[in-house]
Amino acid sequence: MQYISTRAFRKEAEKRSFLQILLEGLSPDGGLYMPLAYPRVTDEELTAWRRLSYADLACEVLKKFATDMPEADLKALIHKTYTPEIYRNVRPDQDAAKITPLRVLEEKDGKVLALLGLSGGPTLAFKDMAMQLLGNFFEYELARQHAELNILGATSGDTGSAAEYAMRGKKGIRVFMLSPHGKMSAFQTAQMFSLPDPNIFNIAIEGVFDDCQDIVKAVSNDLPFKSRQKIGTVNSINWARVVAQVIYYFRGYLEATESNSQKVSFTVPSGNFGNICAGHIARMMGLPIAKLVVATNENDVLDEFFRTGVYRVRKSAETLHTSSPSMDISKASNFERFVYDLLGQDGQRVNALFRQIESRGYFDLSGRPGSDGDEFLKVPAFGFESGRSTHQDRLATIRFVKEAYGIVIDTHTADGVKVAREHQEAGIPMIVLETALAAKFNETIREALGADAERPAGFENIEALPQRFIVMPDKADEVKHYIAEHTGL
Ligand SMILES: *Cc1c(COP(=O)(O)O)cnc(C)c1O
Repeated sequence: MQYISTRAFRKEAEKRSFLQILLEGLSPDGGLYMPLAYPRVTDEELTAWRRLSYADLACEVLKKFATDMPEADLKALIHKTYTPEIYRNVRPDQDAAKITPLRVLEEKDGKVLALLGLSGGPTLAFKDMAMQLLGNFFEYELARQHAELNILGATSGDTGSAAEYAMRGKKGIRVFMLSPHGKMSAFQTAQMFSLPDPNIFNIAIEGVFDDCQDIVKAVSNDLPFKSRQKIGTVNSINWARVVAQVIYYFRGYLEATESNSQKVSFTVPSGNFGNICAGHIARMMGLPIAKLVVATNENDVLDEFFRTGVYRVRKSAETLHTSSPSMDISKASNFERFVYDLLGQDGQRVNALFRQIESRGYFDLSGRPGSDGDEFLKVPAFGFESGRSTHQDRLATIRFVKEAYGIVIDTHTADGVKVAREHQEAGIPMIVLETALAAKFNETIREALGADAERPAGFENIEALPQRFIVMPDKADEVKHYIAEHTGL
């Protein structure tokens, strides 16, 4: 299996392997890596996969993509990752051995609504599904190259904690994570700052999240420093992260159906388009998915595209802080992967359109006079639909799900359930991906229900644990100095 950039002009010349792109983010031409051709899954395979555990299913899916990793190594890394011990934070009435348990909420008039639980990992959000595997892949590849990596990131909550829990204690890896001092929730702060591992460095910046991101950019743009200090990232455009998410679409499908002649649809609370991009890949591999429904909050860049054919990125000042903060994005960094397929894998056109985003802020594929193309007309063939929710919708949905089905869902999942209910069809189960547990966003749960969300065992007193972090002014030079001091490079 070979990979190329979404902006590659000459496909034959620029192919790379899975291990060659494993540690990377953007391709040097500014594009994202994609397989040269999607591997297909046969009817026989799908039938045989019905009997497999999560880890064994993961092996079958990933060996189609990681073809340059010895199969025994791939298996060992996967089996070390997908265990009921690591994904133990499922609801008490669910089976942790399933890793991603499916819960049917309702079966009425031939319409099935179900939740696929992806939040049983250490940080109670779906990012653990891919990030835990990435930690093991990174450690393996760095050992093979006799190399080390210093991961620098900025977080307002979810990504930083998922990265730290994935990389803690890993050989050859250090994590320097910047967060806005005093601006994360008490729960998120405690989760990150209570990690005792010596390879994890929490840097609380006196500023807001955008300041943290600017420091990461400034440090990464200092190329001599970046190379000397072996600086890398783990952002959502990393190919291995996307492909690890493909597994649970297969899993959800196989749990919800009895035969391969049936179809299912998925609704995905979306921000950077990483999660639902994995659903698109599963569908391109031949998984019988009817619809992929993109659910956004008030930051509706993606909903706008799937309604109108216009992709218009927002300015930071236009990006709203909402009660589903992990979906508060101004542009969807993985969206380019779908556009690449929509444009018939034409790297030259993808390149032109995304350069236009930089100069003009939008592109228009609606086919209207003066637009940049008419490929929006092909979107239905890819199964995509969309919807959005507001804060009031999420509150109402949290209350409704509690009353009707007796469980408390988080704000991001509420966004998914709200939109899913508008897109259900008889005879086709609708699976909503549960992207976080309610305990992480307790402030809004209290607003909706007047009571606290339940916390999984072991998290009861997390705020009382000792915390390790350093406070720094909003200055890239001080961060650089701190990194150099702690890497000894
Ligand atoms: C990251 C995140 C999302 C958005 O996922 P994307 O892959 O960025 O679309 C949704 N919900 C939660 C809880 C998240 O942490």
